[in-house]
Amino acid sequence: MSEAKERSLLGLTLQELTGIAEEAGQPSYRGHQIFEGIYRRRLESPEQISNLPHSFRGQLADAGFTVGLPKIEKKFSAADGTGRYLMALVDGQSVETVWMPEGDGGEAGDGSEAGKEEESRAWNRATICVSSQVGCAVDCQFCLTALLGVKRNLSAGEIVGQICAVLNDRNVLLPQDRVNVVFMGMGEPFLNYDNFMKAVRLLVEGVGIAESRMTVSTAGIVPRIYDFGAEPVRPKLAISLNASNDDLRSRLMPINRKWNLEKLMAAARDFPLRARERLTFEYVLLNEVNDSARNAREVAELIRGIRAKVNLIALNTGPGIAFETPAEERVLQFQRILIAAGVPAFVRRPRGRDIFAACGQLKRTVELQTA
Ligand code: SAH
Repeated sequence: MSEAKERSLLGLTLQELTGIAEEAGQPSYRGHQIFEGIYRRRLESPEQISNLPHSFRGQLADAGFTVGLPKIEKKFSAADGTGRYLMALVDGQSVETVWMPEGDGGEAGDGSEAGKEEESRAWNRATICVSSQVGCAVDCQFCLTALLGVKRNLSAGEIVGQICAVLNDRNVLLPQDRVNVVFMGMGEPFLNYDNFMKAVRLLVEGVGIAESRMTVSTAGIVPRIYDFGAEPVRPKLAISLNASNDDLRSRLMPINRKWNLEKLMAAARDFPLRARERLTFEYVLLNEVNDSARNAREVAELIRGIRAKVNLIALNTGPGIAFETPAEERVLQFQRILIAAGVPAFVRRPRGRDIFAACGQLKRTVELQTA
């Protein structure tokens, strides 16, 4: 790739920004001012960093520096308040980012805060679901993103940028507003591990989102689960289980042929949980494929002894997906069996299905055909 004319500031650490200031003959605290400007204040161009001298702002612009926020190319709004953003990246590729508000009028949450403050605001907590790659290489048979294949990794700046762009679009004030981040959009974060972890640190130190408010989900890249457990600053961990035995899992998630359930569950068992932290296992229910009573008992057996909960997701369908959504009763039966076996299990409500924003539906869908 030829040298990019535009150089994005997003993605650079405080140390790297300090280096840029010093190279330009500026005092090193200017690096901190840029850091605050792009992450905490979420400004959109170097010219807006008003506490920098005019001359230095001009120098940055002349050197080709931009903040590097992705451009919101399209925005879809679902009946349940979910927003799906199509984000354009500098090289013409695009990814999707999802905004999921909670708790207007007390339909979610504990209700204690509803109506107390921010009357004008339709949410009191929100989750942003962010992409880590353009497309995905993992090839899970029930997921629409898999149909794209993987185009490339996102840079740390492109990961942080998705979040900043959505926070700006929704006028979010940090740290007052309660915002969670889930690395569960397009791509496999653990196959873009270094950029993903750099983005995490920038979000914590710069943007102001606590690590305890973030969760990363992996399809089961076992060596990275061990690396992740050793990180001093890290989000919570979710593992996409989706099958209760190796035969089934290898069929649904080919990655299981590389790291099977024995290896995956060993990594889960060894994962160093913090006080009161729990692992999450996600399980997409596919009608009459992985959703029987026997499957539920096998899942309980796999998880026995791990401080974990299971999030059950009834399949979100899409064009080219050869599975069906189970009836509500099968979902509830699966949940009851897990709970009876002592495994906390929750049924996740689908969000934004009508705009193709739900789990497994992110495919840069531009038209909105009805499923
Ligand atoms: N690649 C990572 C991050 C994506 S998370 C991972 O696999 O964990 C996406 C979550 O949505 C995963 O838990 C996956 O199991 C789930 N999912 C994928 N396709 C789905 C679909 N069609 N319906 C419901 N959930 C789906």
